[in-house]
Amino acid sequence: MPELPEVETTRRGIEPYLLHHSVNRLTIHQWQLRWAIPKTIKRLTDQVITAVERRGKYILIKTSSGQAIVHLGMSGSLRICTTNDEPRRKHDHVEMHLSNGSLLRFHDPRRFGCLLWQNSDEPTHSLLEKLGPEPLSNQFDTAHLIAATRNKKVAIKNLIMNSHIVVGVGNIYASEALFMAGVRPGRAAGRITYKECEKLVDAIKLILQRSIDQGGTTLRDFVNSDGEPGYFKQSLFVYGKEGEACLNCGLPIKQKVIGQRSTFYCTQCQR
Ligand SMILES: [Zn+2]
Repeated sequence: MPELPEVETTRRGIEPYLLHHSVNRLTIHQWQLRWAIPKTIKRLTDQVITAVERRGKYILIKTSSGQAIVHLGMSGSLRICTTNDEPRRKHDHVEMHLSNGSLLRFHDPRRFGCLLWQNSDEPTHSLLEKLGPEPLSNQFDTAHLIAATRNKKVAIKNLIMNSHIVVGVGNIYASEALFMAGVRPGRAAGRITYKECEKLVDAIKLILQRSIDQGGTTLRDFVNSDGEPGYFKQSLFVYGKEGEACLNCGLPIKQKVIGQRSTFYCTQCQR
C-alpha cells in the first residue's frame, strides 16, 4: 500500500508535468473505483492547474474552479508518459492528456483508489475535513500527542496510526518509529510519558522525512517505470524482521498482532 512518503514522492514526480498546464482531454476507461468517479470530474479539463498538493495520502490537483482528489488505495500509482505511443496497460483506468503533450495515467489493479471532484465553492470534502495534522508540520508536536493520548487506553501504535490524530503514519512507519523511540507498541497511549511522546514525535518525523528523501533518489523508477509502487525498505530496523537479531541489542525481534496489524518490536529496546 502506498504510504505517505510514496504519495509525496509521486506528488513531486508529477508536479512539474502538471503545474501551469491544463488537461486537454480526460479519458476514463473504468469509472468504478473505490467510489464511482463523478461525472463532474470533466470540470478538470481546460483549466490551468494552479497547484499539486498533498493532504495525508490524498493528492490534490487544483484549478481555480475546484480540485481533483486522488487516492492511490492499496495498489494505485500515477505514471507520467512523455509520449502518447506508450501503449496503455491493463488497469490504466484514467488518462489525462496534458497541454504539454505528456500523459498522466492512473493505474490501479485492485481499484481501492479514488478520483473525485470538488468545486471550489463547496465546503472541505468530507474525506479531508477530519484529518489530523500533517506529521511533518509544526502542528504535530509533543503537546499535540500528549493531548491526544491522555486517558486513552488504546495501544499507542493504533493511536499514532489513526488519521484523526496524525495523518500518514502507516503500519511500517509506526513500527519503526516506536522502535526508534524505545516504546512498546502495545502500551496504553495514556501511559506514555511526556519524554516518550517527545521521542515518538521526533522519530515519526525523522522516519517519514528520511523515506521521502530516499524516495527522491528513486523518483524515476517510482513514477515513470513499469514497476509497481515500492516501499522504501532501505533502512528498516524491525518491520518484517521477526526472529532476526535486533540491530541494537541482538535479541530476536518479536512479532505480534495489534489492531489486526502485524507489529514488530524488540522486548529489550522497547519498554
Ligand atoms: Zn533490541
